[in-house]
Amino acid sequence: MRMATMLSDVIRSAWRKPVTRKYPYVVRPAPPRLRGKLIWNPEKCTGCALCSKDCPSDAIALVVNDKQTKTFVMRYNVDRCTFCAQCVVNCRFKCIELMNDQWELAALSREAFTIYYGRPEKVEEFLATAASSGQAVE
Ligand code: SF4
Ligand code: SF4
Repeated sequence: MRMATMLSDVIRSAWRKPVTRKYPYVVRPAPPRLRGKLIWNPEKCTGCALCSKDCPSDAIALVVNDKQTKTFVMRYNVDRCTFCAQCVVNCRFKCIELMNDQWELAALSREAFTIYYGRPEKVEEFLATAASSGQAVE
């Protein structure tokens, strides 16, 4: 490239607006079809466990599944999820969604990638039982 061409490119670029964005200070809205973090609604769940059986990456599990009292707790391992949406398709009761506005999922510790969904008291009860029995909660 000739020196004159290079110089004119440099001068032109100096006056142009940058093409990059000021992320994370400016966040653009995500496309509606983007598959982000999984959200689960236990109120509509029947405990059929189809979602967890068909998950190709073992990312979800119903760790408490009491159909009689309709008590369910789901463990979601964000770091295993491939966002394939197989669980969303399989759930006939539309309990599962992959949120398009929750995609900033980086974390500094591994614990942040394990999420328990369900009624707070049931989640606490499950974690306390697991801890007292020495069961590893992944
Ligand atoms: S497939 Fe739906 S109804 Fe069945 S256990 Fe999963 S979330 Fe519940
Ligand atoms: S989106 Fe795919 S990988 Fe993630 S929990 Fe659902 S079935 Fe499993």
